[in-house]
Amino acid sequence: MEKVMKKIQMVDLKSQYEKIKTEVDASIQNVLNNTAFINGPEVKEFQKELEAYLDVKHVIPCANGTDALQIAMMALDLKPGDEVITANFTYVATAEVIGLLGLKPVLVDVIPDTFDIDVKAIERAITPKTKAIVPVHLFGQCANMEAIMELAKKHNLFVIEDTAQAIGAEYIYADGKKKKAGAIGTVGCTSFFPSKNLGCYGDGGALFTNDDALAAKIRIIANHGQTALYIHDLIGVNSRLDSIQAGVLRIKLRQLDNYCSARGKAAAYYDKAFANNPKLKTPERATYSNHVFHQYTLQLVDVDRAALRDFLTTKEIPAMIYYPIPLHLQKAYMDPRYKAGDFPVTEALCASVVSLPMHTELDEETLKYITDSVLEFVNK
Ligand SMILES: *Cc1c(COP(=O)(O)O)cnc(C)c1O
Repeated sequence: MEKVMKKIQMVDLKSQYEKIKTEVDASIQNVLNNTAFINGPEVKEFQKELEAYLDVKHVIPCANGTDALQIAMMALDLKPGDEVITANFTYVATAEVIGLLGLKPVLVDVIPDTFDIDVKAIERAITPKTKAIVPVHLFGQCANMEAIMELAKKHNLFVIEDTAQAIGAEYIYADGKKKKAGAIGTVGCTSFFPSKNLGCYGDGGALFTNDDALAAKIRIIANHGQTALYIHDLIGVNSRLDSIQAGVLRIKLRQLDNYCSARGKAAAYYDKAFANNPKLKTPERATYSNHVFHQYTLQLVDVDRAALRDFLTTKEIPAMIYYPIPLHLQKAYMDPRYKAGDFPVTEALCASVVSLPMHTELDEETLKYITDSVLEFVNK
């Protein structure tokens, strides 16, 4: 009898869950038993465990990654009109909170090989109104943090790391020293959205910092600006990680390094299969970071992307475009400062990238089927 292959998904949370079901179910049941759904002991425990994992003084859990970015900007006292520099090639949330707070998003281009924010472009974008840089560790690889921190120091800027896609990744300094993504800048922000590398079973997020005063302020802002019970010194938000999600995350944090290496193995398989194919440019590794492959993203060279996706659909292989439209061409972010053609790298990437299934449960048989199918189309 022919073996039936599992349905291929961009992310396979079900198979991953089945392997940790006993522990996850017990952790959730424990919260149900103690009914401390908000600020239960799991939240504090998870916070401590994540602080140890990241080697950072303070982790402040919150409701999602977008909130984390917003709370960071509020805690740093950024004011309407302040300029915040970020990458154009990113998920919208990064720029969204800048706009939402009345700050001015200043977009910069990225480097084509690694998809990283272009440090030279950041430098060119700095003005007397610039207050912060938001590097995005896109697809699971750190931005060039040493160079960014140096620029920030020189111009007295805050650095808010968006590490929603790169939790667990390590930045490698020129001298060989390593630090976890998110633990380098003024503050790090992450998301525990289910499909992220450390995902819960709903929404969740966190901020990281080594600054005691900033951590205290972040906690206050995330809790309605409350400094003591019913005493509100600041306007804050309501942003909490609930206890059930913290319970799930405690179990999954123990697996995070295994999850990163499973993704790395799948990426290595893709790399090998596509090596030296002139139509497929595989993602490059930066010298200053390891890669935890939130996404495995190819750049297509003279390949009809829509036709490739249609072909893969007939083979029941999903493939996604992260991201199809640069921020400066999105209606909500259009600005007289920017026009089509201003961000040549981002615009070229939006037109040529395709991301293949990437998760912790990809076996060789599936990877062979996916790579054979992609090659069948591009070599035709
Ligand atoms: C997912 C993501 C976010 C937002 O996280 P949510 O938890 O969905 O709010 C922010 N930035 C980047 C780069 C992301 O990938």
